Amino acid sequence: MLALAVFLCPLLASAVDASDRYRSPRNPERKIRPGTELIVLHTTEAPARSSLNKVSERGECHFCVTEDGTIYRIVDRDREAFHAGRSMWAGKEDIDKYSIGIECVGYHDKPMPLVQLYAIRDLLNDLKAMYRLSDDRVVTHSQVAYGTPNRWQKKKHRGRKRCGMLFAMPSVRKVLGLRSRMSHDPDTRAKRLVVGDPYLEKVLYGSVDTMRGNYAAAASGAAAVASEPSSGLLGWFAKTVQSKPVQPAISAPPKPKPPASAQSRSSAGPTFKRIPQSISELKAQGYTLKGRVVPGRTASQIAGAKWNSASTYYTIRNKVIPGNTINPAKIEVNMGVWMK
Ligand SMILES: [Zn+2]
Repeated sequence: MLALAVFLCPLLASAVDASDRYRSPRNPERKIRPGTELIVLHTTEAPARSSLNKVSERGECHFCVTEDGTIYRIVDRDREAFHAGRSMWAGKEDIDKYSIGIECVGYHDKPMPLVQLYAIRDLLNDLKAMYRLSDDRVVTHSQVAYGTPNRWQKKKHRGRKRCGMLFAMPSVRKVLGLRSRMSHDPDTRAKRLVVGDPYLEKVLYGSVDTMRGNYAAAASGAAAVASEPSSGLLGWFAKTVQSKPVQPAISAPPKPKPPASAQSRSSAGPTFKRIPQSISELKAQGYTLKGRVVPGRTASQIAGAKWNSASTYYTIRNKVIPGNTINPAKIEVNMGVWMK
């Protein structure tokens, strides 16, 4: 696997960038995982700084994605991270051994900023390609966690927690470029577990989607971009397997990632600027019109290599489209190209 990653590396363009600032000191002591069958999405239920410190100190995930779209590598992807706890899928227990865990700073029932969802999408695209996983293999922690009998539940049950619940909702999956999800819970169907949280069951496998409306405009553009192949992670994964000395978790403010966010962080934690929704918001955030697409003048002639970056925006008929979500086939004559 390692050899394969190193071999493939030069063939693939780098798409996803990540920070090593919160690499876990637990890394060297973690076992190599026997396989990768699932990608498990979590919500940290806490602000970024405390989330990063905690997951790093305890080695609780492979990646952590903050609200500004920065991706942090915590534990080597081929090693075991302790993220799923008591867990089961299709009769198999201890899902940590068979999965990649991604902690997303935020809450299981609250919308996340688009810039964060796009970073998660890019990371997922790389991991899905690398491990050849279909979209339905991207699950939430609440889908695999289970509880043992307690005073409220007489049986082993699904519904121990709602962690990552929003990532099962169709509107959010659309933004993440995920075209399918698990159709049912194999463990409750086989009666290995009972349903301990009927509402959660409706979110995971029914039609409850409380995020609908938050991402309506973004979903169409995201679906187009999701089909673009990208496996930039191979490049930086290949670099990380050479067991670099591991830095202890530090509490200094993480370095802001310039293009996706171009924001600064306050000592109170990360902040993010909302994605401009109108030309006046673009201007207010310091963007200027660099030119218009006309026959003979393409977007990349106007914006250069940054034509599809998150810091480039396209405008047409009062719509504002971030460069990292634009479908190249839909770039049309008279579109405005905005940059800083
Ligand atoms: Zn979780």
